[in-house]
Amino acid sequence: MKTLHFSSLGACNQRCLFCVKGGDSPIERYIPTAECKKIIAEKRAEGYDSIDFDGGEPTLRPDLAGLMSWAFKCGYIIVGVVTNGVRFGSPGLIDKFEKIRSNCRPGQEIRVYVSLHSHLESVSERLTGSKGTFRKTLKGLRSLQARKFSTGLYYIITEYNYRHTRGFIEFVHRKFPGISNITFSYIYPSGRALKNMHIYPKLSLVEPYFRDVISLCARRGIMSSISSCGTIPLCLTGGHEHLFIDRFARDSPEKAGVVDSTKDELFTLATMKYHRETKIKVPRCAKCLLEELCSGIWKVYADRHGTGELKPFRSIHRLRKTHNRRRELDIGQDMQDFSSGTIGVLVQIYKWRRKSAQRIRFFGRNARARPDIDRILGFAGKLGYTKVSLD
Ligand code: SF4
Repeated sequence: MKTLHFSSLGACNQRCLFCVKGGDSPIERYIPTAECKKIIAEKRAEGYDSIDFDGGEPTLRPDLAGLMSWAFKCGYIIVGVVTNGVRFGSPGLIDKFEKIRSNCRPGQEIRVYVSLHSHLESVSERLTGSKGTFRKTLKGLRSLQARKFSTGLYYIITEYNYRHTRGFIEFVHRKFPGISNITFSYIYPSGRALKNMHIYPKLSLVEPYFRDVISLCARRGIMSSISSCGTIPLCLTGGHEHLFIDRFARDSPEKAGVVDSTKDELFTLATMKYHRETKIKVPRCAKCLLEELCSGIWKVYADRHGTGELKPFRSIHRLRKTHNRRRELDIGQDMQDFSSGTIGVLVQIYKWRRKSAQRIRFFGRNARARPDIDRILGFAGKLGYTKVSLD
């Protein structure tokens, strides 16, 4: 699935402290309807089959429903809306969504991703910088749930809410049993977030809470994932580094694009080039088993909290028992998709090892001629495979 993140306006009805827009970021203008339609059609022709309407706040667009219908007409399979949910409390919008859904072809689906960062009104509104929005967002969630729209939550981990996240999960489980997944994100240092560095929590303090919360989600039947924009060092993820590695693999630039009024580019947030520009590692990272898959720590975070929390992996967490002790991977040069690229191969090697695979065999046309072959073999050896072979 190739996803387009389409931010067609910069305006919003909240003023979140962690917003990546604002600050020194270029101001995104409102893209007129005709231009939006042209972009949507062109991107579909380029192979995107999923589109997320982002913002600003996309529900502020009076033509949002029309654009969603247009996206379905162009052939997108999934049309998502990334929203603070405030406007879903009023019947007009949800009725329009209902109408769009009734015209969808089999297989096409609307997904709504609602930002909600606390179950406590005071904390939520402190973070969103907007009085009176908490109850509206909850009302919106109730409407979405009542109409059975596929709805997920987006939760930013900050200094103000990390201690209460367990309560948040229990609240969601109790009040919104229709919520199928929660995406967690650490703060992406850009825009207004950079002006509010006090909301960056110390990661080692968050770690035990995060560990607990991910396990709780699993027990409550809620799928948890990580956003690619707010990633952290793998060694501070409380043993859930696989979630970050999965995200890294899913958001490869080949699989996602970003369009707004200031840019049209492949998704760069998950590239090593981007991470190298914005993050740092420390000398002891060289001894870390997962160094190849870790992007390090934000420079702005290190300036504030230092790098003393980083702790190299000496083993892989939670190796599971499995009967599949031997694995084989085609790394032939004629494979052009992401999974054959270096990072894709390293991610696969890691995943199998995490499931306790002990031997690995690489094969494929010209596999030996790959320029990254030493890196691939070295990584497999470092992870503890007892036998690494190359045909
Ligand atoms: S020790 Fe360094 S390379 Fe290893 S997970 Fe931590 S930051 Fe990443």
